[in-house]
Amino acid sequence: MQMNYKISCFLCNEIKKKEICNHNLDFGHLDYLYNILNKNKIKKFFKTKNIKNLNEILPLKKKYDYKLPEINIKTFNKINKKFRNKIYFVIDYFNFSGSFKDRASLISCLFAKEGDFKEISLASSGNAAISTATFANMFELKTSVFLPSFVSDSKKKILKDLGCKIYEFNKPYSFTVKKCIEYSKKFNSFNRSSALNPISRDGKKIFMYEIYNDLKKKKCDYIMVPVGDANIISGICKGSIELKTSNLLKKIPKIIGVQSDESPSFFNQFNSDSPFPIRLNSKSKCDSINVDQPLDAFYAYKYLKRVNGEIIKVKDQNILRAKKFLLKNLGINCCSASASSFASLQNYIKKNKIHNKNFFLILTGSGFKDNFK
Ligand SMILES: [Zn+2]
Repeated sequence: MQMNYKISCFLCNEIKKKEICNHNLDFGHLDYLYNILNKNKIKKFFKTKNIKNLNEILPLKKKYDYKLPEINIKTFNKINKKFRNKIYFVIDYFNFSGSFKDRASLISCLFAKEGDFKEISLASSGNAAISTATFANMFELKTSVFLPSFVSDSKKKILKDLGCKIYEFNKPYSFTVKKCIEYSKKFNSFNRSSALNPISRDGKKIFMYEIYNDLKKKKCDYIMVPVGDANIISGICKGSIELKTSNLLKKIPKIIGVQSDESPSFFNQFNSDSPFPIRLNSKSKCDSINVDQPLDAFYAYKYLKRVNGEIIKVKDQNILRAKKFLLKNLGINCCSASASSFASLQNYIKKNKIHNKNFFLILTGSGFKDNFK
């Protein structure tokens, strides 16, 4: 079967014939580039949400009959009135493991199976680990997870119950990534760590195909998304670019990444116009976006620049306040990281004097997995 993609390396700045290059194992250097030949199949996906229609934009060899769960989108009159814009909460945690990461975990597990791997491993601040272990159990793969100890106790408990091997370190996220790389090399485990494995970006970009009908119907102008390792935002940008390139989307909404003021590595990098990721102390209480060195910062930079997006930051205390507000007033139980977009909304609208536009706030994880203190 002929491959429908090429592999490019950010640092070598060239298209690779093989997957092997000196940079491919230690950071988010690689990316799959697709030649989309059959738009009609993708159009079928918009209706069916079945990944068997997505082989044009994924590196999978086989087709899989697998329908993705519905994404719930809610809007509230009182909020729209208050903000003088239409605010859509895109609630993406009514799926198998309660997080956005599910689509990437599904595709990663299928890819690992095609490569005859017996085990999948990853560094994670919790959600991706739970999601991967969930799908790995469905597909008879073993899982090893590498966690920084700041991950919430609720997440650790779920991981224990899922039966995966847990390696916990009282160190920043980047340290767990190193440990995971060493482990996967030594034991020939499929390393699915976000960004480090380019399939994670492609898994996450599927989200844009999933909400395609809503983007059009609800005339989305702005997408706000929390940023930790920067893999979700790079996926969202990449998906948007693919849809635009294949003339399925006329205009890409303004994509805005939100970081915590207490974990602003990508904010600093992006706003100093540098493609090179930086390591910066991170001490955000929102574990999913508490990342000292975002692994997908190369491609997040490249793609976010290409779509003319931006990155803003907001204080932890405002995020935690926003999370409480959403739960108490709207019945939205998202994780603290997800609340970052709502926390920054008021300032963003005020600063840019925006009226009567349509905002999509992407809520990427369930509040049930947060620490309750
Ligand atoms: Zn390279």
